[in-house]
Parts: sequence; C-alpha cells; structure tokens
Amino acid sequence: MDAGDGLKGRESAANNSAPFKPRALVLFSGGLDSVLAAELLRRLGVEVVGITFTTPFFGSEAAKRAARQLELPLLVVDITDRHLGVVRNPRFGYGKNLNPCIDCHALMVRVALEKLEDLGAHFLATGEVLGERPKSQNRRALGLVAEISGARDLLLRPLSAKLLPPTRPEILGWVERSKLMDIKGRSRKRQMQLAEEWGIREYQTPAGGCLLTDPGFSRRLKDLMEAKKDFDAGDVELVKVGRQFWIRGNLLVLGRRHDENERLWELCRPGDRLFKEKDRPGPTALWRPVAPGMELGQDDLEEIARLLGIYGKKKEPLSLHEMVEVTPKDVVSSRVEESQMSERNEGMELKPKEGT
Ligand code: SF4
Repeated sequence: MDAGDGLKGRESAANNSAPFKPRALVLFSGGLDSVLAAELLRRLGVEVVGITFTTPFFGSEAAKRAARQLELPLLVVDITDRHLGVVRNPRFGYGKNLNPCIDCHALMVRVALEKLEDLGAHFLATGEVLGERPKSQNRRALGLVAEISGARDLLLRPLSAKLLPPTRPEILGWVERSKLMDIKGRSRKRQMQLAEEWGIREYQTPAGGCLLTDPGFSRRLKDLMEAKKDFDAGDVELVKVGRQFWIRGNLLVLGRRHDENERLWELCRPGDRLFKEKDRPGPTALWRPVAPGMELGQDDLEEIARLLGIYGKKKEPLSLHEMVEVTPKDVVSSRVEESQMSERNEGMELKPKEGT
C-alpha cells in the first residue's frame, strides 16, 4: 500500500460535518518511549490504537502489560517469517550483536502500514527518539525507515517531531506540531520525568526483551546461521536451550536442567534423535541434522555418549552401552517415572561397533 492510498478518504472524513477525531496506530513495544508516544498523542486528542509484534526473538508480554495500564487497544501480529528473512539477510546490516534494527524497524512500520486502513487509522507513530541509538535512530536511519517502509510522511515520531521534517498529520492539523516534543540523545532523563508526571509506572527497560541484542544468544545464532543458511523458527527455539555443540556440522543440544530436558522433548521433530544416560537421571541430548537425510555415524554416537557422561552425574564419558536412544513417546512415560523418583528408562540400547 502506498502511503498516499486511502488518504483522500481520510482527508474527506476530516471535511465531514461530524467532528473529526484522528486515529493513530502506534508501534507499541511496551518500552518507555512507545508508552510516552502513545500517551502524548492521546493527550493531544488523538485516538490511539497500539500494534505490537512477536517473533522467536521477542514476545508481546511487555506490550500487553503496558497497554493494560494505559487501557490501550492492542493488536498483536506474529511476523516470524518476514522477520527471519530480515535477520538472515539485513539490507542495512547488524548493530552491535545480530540485531538488524534498521531493517527490523522498517519491517514493523511496513506491517503497521498494511493494517492502517483496516484499523481505520489515519497515520502511524513510533516512540523513536532522535540520537537515542547511534546506529538505528540517527537522522539518516529515521529517514530510511520512513522511506523503505513506504510510510513516508504518514510516520510521526511524537517525542522528536520538532527536530524532524513536518509529517502529514502535522501539516493537515490532525496533531499540533507545537505541542509535540524535541527530545534527542541517549539520556532518558526527560522521558523519566514525563513518566513520573503522567503517572506511568509499567514499562519495559531499554533494549530489554530482544534476544538479538544479547551477545551470548547472538553467538549461538551466528553458529546456526553459518551451518544452516535457511534456518527456521524451530531452529531458533532450539538454540535458545541448553548447552550447544556442533558435531560434524550438525547440532547437538544438552539440557542443563529438568525444564530444559523437557523443552528438548517438545522441540524434537522428525529427523531429530534424542539420547539419555541409561538407568540414571541426567541430561537429555537432542541431535538435529543440518540437512534432511543426514545420518548419525559411529563417531557421532561416541561423541554424544562422551558429552552426556561428562555433563551428567558420572562426570566422565559414557560407553555406548550406558546410553539409550529415546523417542518423545518414551519420554512422556519417563516423565511420569521421574516424578515418582524412578529414573529407569528402557529405551533402545546402543551397541558399540564390532571390534571396539
Ligand atoms: S532491538 Fe530487536 S526488536 Fe528492536 S529493532 Fe532491533 S532487532 Fe528489532
């Protein structure tokens, strides 16, 4: 949708005899800036609807909590597939870690723009602040996001609007430019003051919530990207869990706690293999081939047994006799046994190669 599409309808709505109340669709992460942007617009007489996004890298909980506080209607949109495309191949590169913030912002604005008409909104707004993030919120980056998302002058940044070129809602008088803000820079002092003044207590800490800004997670994801260019959401879920090992180019994950073992059982999909130490509680190991049809070799099995032993109760490598392969079905029954403090698992026994 072009930014100009449907605008005539909106302008004529403004000319109808009924009093015109502009409606903004605000990109709402639940972070302080987006909360303030929404509240500022509301205080200027704009009807505000929030939109937030989910992917394997961030969820919508903080946005939902903050929206409840403001009594803001909130639309939650899962953008996993489109977002994975951006993470795999960002046009404007990554930030400090694997966070492709310019492309990510542009995608979110584009998706919001696609929803604008359906939601009866007249323009978009974000909580972006000029200069708050050196790479993704400088003047050029803000211009790029407006341009490549297609939103152009329908995109208002209320917290820094006075420092930026006038947008359509300002030009048409839907929002009074003089009442918008001129916040810039990394200090969040003015935002904190406003939050205090407006009684806003519920908001997410800066940069909280996005795994792509986490150095440890980014390293894991980088390994995945190098091994499997077309990684999917299920692969991302897997690299969030446990200890990670790459064995002959395939991924092995060991649970560190009971809940991680359970998560591995849930994430197991056709082609994956699950292993445990026989007759003793300990880590579950999930092996995932990077390409369909890849098989486990004898060396791989021995390496899995070694790691299961080292990170298990025994603290030393297992022999193949001491390891069993389990299926998610076995695991359901073993879960019941575990809860009864009985840790016997009669899975398929692995035989060492003849002669070893
Ligand atoms: S921090 Fe994460 S969610 Fe936020 S713009 Fe960057 S990549 Fe997107």
